Amino acid sequence: MRKHIVAGNWKMNNDLAQTSSLISELKRQSKTSDAEVMIAPSFTNLWHAFESTREDDIEVIAQNMHFAENGAYTGEVSASMLKSIGVKTVILGHSERRAYYNETDESLTKKVDAALANDLRVIFCFGEELADRKAGNEETVVERQIKNALFHLEASAFKNIVLAYEPVWAIGTGETASPEQAQDMHAFIRKTLESTYGNAVADDMTILYGGSVKPNNAKEIFGKPDVDGGLIGGASLKAEDFYAIVNAF
Ligand code: 13P
Repeated sequence: MRKHIVAGNWKMNNDLAQTSSLISELKRQSKTSDAEVMIAPSFTNLWHAFESTREDDIEVIAQNMHFAENGAYTGEVSASMLKSIGVKTVILGHSERRAYYNETDESLTKKVDAALANDLRVIFCFGEELADRKAGNEETVVERQIKNALFHLEASAFKNIVLAYEPVWAIGTGETASPEQAQDMHAFIRKTLESTYGNAVADDMTILYGGSVKPNNAKEIFGKPDVDGGLIGGASLKAEDFYAIVNAF
């Protein structure tokens, strides 16, 4: 049985005091679904977030990491640093990092390998831009992104991978993929996995949808058979909205 996951990507939001108060509010919410709940604060607040959720059903995860173990990479954070504070999961390949920090399939391959070598679970993000979809190329783009960064892995590695389909045109725009568009792409992703790795890997893969998921559309999107959860940006910054999405399962 694959897992349901709802992860809040806080992006570059919330200083220490805001992190602390949002976590307090999150703790006051009640969970009525079987979804695993994750939050991804900024690096500076990871340790605080980790310490203050020790007793709670909330996993604190990282938004990014460097592929090197250590060294002269000013401003970067390594997998072993994340691990040393208790982080078990890292988001890689978010479209904002691809767009603003030149992350490529090649650098992402190295990041995926470094994360897995350090026993971190990877939430691997990918998704087409509006021009790709308008040209009818969304499947080609998504297939390329997944294959280039992940298909060098052994089948057994996929138990530590979660996929997150985030169409760039739906991120922070208020425009979501329709539940049917999400379902079609998720089914395509599963088929792509199946053709190389077989039925078991494809069937067990948790595939999240991200892009303007809100309390009022989560139920419909999560109701689709190949959508196993969500990666939530804006709506994860309000505790009530985030838990309304968590409880949409
Ligand atoms: P929004 O939910 O704000 O569209 O962001 C989605 C996202 O990028 C999550 O990683």
